[in-house]
Amino acid sequence: MHAGAMGFADAHLHPLEIADSGAYPDLGEAEVLFGCVSSSSQWDAMSSFEDSRIRRFYGVHPWNASEWSADACARLESILEDDERAGIGEIGLDSKHGTTEEQAEAFDAQLALAERFGRLVNIHCVGCEREVLEHLERHRRIPGIVIHSFSNESYTVPFVRLGCHLSVNPRILARSEVRIRKLMDSIPGDRLLLESDAPFTPRFTGMMDFAERLAGAIGSDAGTLLGAALDNARSIS
Ligand SMILES: [Zn+2]
Repeated sequence: MHAGAMGFADAHLHPLEIADSGAYPDLGEAEVLFGCVSSSSQWDAMSSFEDSRIRRFYGVHPWNASEWSADACARLESILEDDERAGIGEIGLDSKHGTTEEQAEAFDAQLALAERFGRLVNIHCVGCEREVLEHLERHRRIPGIVIHSFSNESYTVPFVRLGCHLSVNPRILARSEVRIRKLMDSIPGDRLLLESDAPFTPRFTGMMDFAERLAGAIGSDAGTLLGAALDNARSIS
């Protein structure tokens, strides 16, 4: 079966920035979209963004952690009260951008909101898996956790144990097939998600193309990967 025959889920993208950029040629074929923002300055635009396929995520990204405040927290609470399907993201920790100490308070507070309101989270985790796991250990009642751009198979088991879904990004295609296979083999079939992170992924040319190249690297087929990722995204949305 050709992958173009089916819909798909994208577990992490930035719909406000895609707009009409042409960066996502097959966006029209998507069925489920986990749409993230990175700054509280985008929350209003996100709430009025019209696309029934989008599960809206509102959050403060670790690069913008200094935005986090009592006011931001109160605003996010009221958004969650108004939109019972809203998730929280993109949030997380990034050891390559500032320090994780500066980011920890915003991350933890947003996880606490997700737990309290029973919402999905979409997590950015660069070079600090252990710390992200420690935060997640303290918030065990979050109903759905997407680890965006998951790339380190040494942490598959602990993330899965905490109920996370692991979202694979096209950046992985820069690796050797052996390394791609190692990562993909580590991920249980019911925890795999696929994402574009559009429009911020260089050389992304559509989800079908990504799935075909990923499938080619691991000896699978695109339809199988897209189908599994769609089922898994639906199971938490
Ligand atoms: Zn992102």
